[in-house]
Amino acid sequence: MQNSPILVHICCSVDSHFFLEKLQNDHPGEKITGFFYDPNIHPHSEYKLRLLDVERSCKKLGIDLIEGPYDYEAWVDAVRGLEREPEKGARCEVCFDKRFIESANKALELGFERFTTTLLVSPLKSQEQLKRAGAEFEAKHGVKFIAPDYRSGGGTQDQSRVTKEEKLYRQDYCGCIYGLSMQREHQNKLADELFSPISGTILPASIEERLELYTKRMELEEQHVPYKIIREKFLNYRQMSLRVIANKKGVIPAYALSYSTLPRKKAQGKIEYTTHNLHHFNREEIKCITLEEFYSLSDKK
Ligand code: SF4
Repeated sequence: MQNSPILVHICCSVDSHFFLEKLQNDHPGEKITGFFYDPNIHPHSEYKLRLLDVERSCKKLGIDLIEGPYDYEAWVDAVRGLEREPEKGARCEVCFDKRFIESANKALELGFERFTTTLLVSPLKSQEQLKRAGAEFEAKHGVKFIAPDYRSGGGTQDQSRVTKEEKLYRQDYCGCIYGLSMQREHQNKLADELFSPISGTILPASIEERLELYTKRMELEEQHVPYKIIREKFLNYRQMSLRVIANKKGVIPAYALSYSTLPRKKAQGKIEYTTHNLHHFNREEIKCITLEEFYSLSDKK
């Protein structure tokens, strides 16, 4: 039993990288195989993005990875009637159980004698409940469920350090369409993750764009090219008008450049510096030129 391989169900790289590193330490020299089975993740582009990051993480750790089926319809059927349940509620129970049982069955099918899941480090899941489900499965089928506790004793802080150090992809929602819709409703935000143009155009800041970016990152890493991922602001609100007042001259008619972004309706600031007749405010990335300059550049009045 000690030397039989361990199958590890993986939910995402943020949970799995930390968990697998610890498991490798606790089981030196033993074969560990990852199993990515998460048909709850929606949309499919987000599924591919999370899988990509898990592939990167497993490669770094020298762990073989198996991708399970993306049986999304079966998952939707399993949680039917529970769509409006809050997170940590009955829908999540079914969702966890489905992934858990499917992974246990995979271990059985592959002839592995031990299995575990990275859901054990998820703060959303009760370790006790997973242990109970594991013990039931073991009693029926003889596949042992290993349940290490990597959460306590500062584990959660360690996990967030590893996430930063390894530059793992941090998703900002749990995974399913129902959880995402409710989260965005609660934030009073549009769930733009659920929009994709029929033309296949990749929109700025979309999941598809992120997928391209992280694919590129994998290529750069394989070629040992240094890189840095920088978060840039996305233009939500454009500054449409502004009033520039000079101490002695009074109001100077001016034109706000696009990409002068605003987090709220109004902003007040001072011109901090000027380059080539372009005036930069000290607040909110506002930039303007005088109306005179605008006329001369555009050759219009
Ligand atoms: S919120 Fe998360 S755990 Fe709950 S059902 Fe959706 S994907 Fe599963």
